[in-house]
Amino acid sequence: MTKVGIIRCEKNEQRCPLTSCFRCMMETKEGFQIYEAAMPAGVFTCRCPGDSVVELAKILKAKGAEAIHFCTCTFAKKEDKGWSMESPGFCEHIDELIENVHRETGIPCVKGTAHLPKDYVLQQWT
Ligand code: SF4
Ligand code: SF4
Repeated sequence: MTKVGIIRCEKNEQRCPLTSCFRCMMETKEGFQIYEAAMPAGVFTCRCPGDSVVELAKILKAKGAEAIHFCTCTFAKKEDKGWSMESPGFCEHIDELIENVHRETGIPCVKGTAHLPKDYVLQQWT
């Protein structure tokens, strides 16, 4: 059972309670397909411009997170035909944030949680 931390974006915190994120984690689907089984280690909300995200990730690690996932809505947007990367998600520099978190925590980081865009290949920092 892999303990997984999630970092979500403040721009969505009052619209989505991570319902699909948690469902996919429990079902090990979408961004969590890489695990045999997974359980939540905790959730934190990133706040612009993201200066505290490394500290938040370190706390998740201290609380037992073995990996950290960043929500799909940070880099993709829901369109009529489904979730897509043709329009940007909430965060212009999510890759840089993930790289920083991976470098500073040393644990695997994954870009994506629920409803991955079609043709998106799960990006992992391991
Ligand atoms: S990825 Fe989807 S379910 Fe998760 S927080 Fe964003 S909009 Fe909500
Ligand atoms: S830095 Fe990016 S992920 Fe963090 S709150 Fe701002 S837009 Fe969202």
